[in-house]
Amino acid sequence: MLKILVCVKQIPDVDLVKMDPETGNLIRTGVPTLTNPLDLNALEAAVQVKERYGGEITLITMGPPMAESTLRECLAVGGDKAVLISGRPFGGADTLSTSYSILMAADMEGKFDLIFCGKETLDGATGQMASQLAERFDASQISCCYSIEDISDGKIRATRTLETGRELVEATLPCLITVEKDNFYGRLPSLDDYLAAKKAAVTTYTENDIDGLDLQKIGVPGSGTIVPKIYPPELPEPGQIIRTGSVKTDVARLMELLDEKGAL
Ligand SMILES: Cc1cc2nc3c(=O)[nH]c(=O)nc-3n(C[C@H](O)[C@H](O)[C@H](O)COP(=O)(O)OP(=O)(O)OC[C@H]3O[C@@H](n4cnc5c(N)ncnc54)[C@H](O)[C@@H]3O)c2cc1C
Repeated sequence: MLKILVCVKQIPDVDLVKMDPETGNLIRTGVPTLTNPLDLNALEAAVQVKERYGGEITLITMGPPMAESTLRECLAVGGDKAVLISGRPFGGADTLSTSYSILMAADMEGKFDLIFCGKETLDGATGQMASQLAERFDASQISCCYSIEDISDGKIRATRTLETGRELVEATLPCLITVEKDNFYGRLPSLDDYLAAKKAAVTTYTENDIDGLDLQKIGVPGSGTIVPKIYPPELPEPGQIIRTGSVKTDVARLMELLDEKGAL
């Protein structure tokens, strides 16, 4: 049986996140959350693999307790087990410590043949996690996967989207895959699956529950980068639209403005 891990992240609705002008920090409190959309494409790819070859899908996320709702959303559309990594010491993590924490928690669930990730998140959007996880899991990696052609004899054959076309590649298992969204649209849950997911068990690992976890490698101490400040980019002066009602006066006004700017 294929053991499949799908990494999903709950993110704030990025359209609604505001910045605190005093501190330069993002204000996440009270902002609605959603499951990172590209992770739903990754999950769809995993579910299609499960439907073709059999297997078990374990969902994993690192985040605050409310990230459990993302796991339940994913359980409703094909996940079998769900793992939440949560606890204060994991907070403030960069990608280095997040990937370490995910590896260590996933190891508690056994060894995985396939690991699926979204290409990037809408909030952090570093796009670093998949490659870091492939390295940590000692897995091969197929990025920009457009279709999965075959999985047999410990190998996976898949096509990748390139700028100029597609290529067929073969990789050995375990393999980490990020998918293109255009071939793996997320599905909607049935009412029964939705209700079952609401009651399903979710395993929560705190820093005390993970065997061999090095506390110096998680959260802030385990992060190789710091973000001293976040600030919006300086925007250029907005342009002016001259619309006086006549082309002649529009042109006259334009010449005036250019003259004022010393551009004539
Ligand atoms: C110095 C620093 C401090 C930070 N502090 C915080 C903080 O305090 N709080 C905070 O929320 N974020 C914080 N972040 C952002 C944090 O690093 C990212 O949320 C996380 O490491 C994933 O990076 P990303 O969102 O860019 O993922 P990407 O690399 O863009 O994501 C690719 C894929 O990886 C998987 N993935 C990503 N994150 C997770 C996750 N958490 N669980 C499961 N799967 C995942 C998903 O499949 C996703 O589609 C910090 C970042 C830095 C650099």
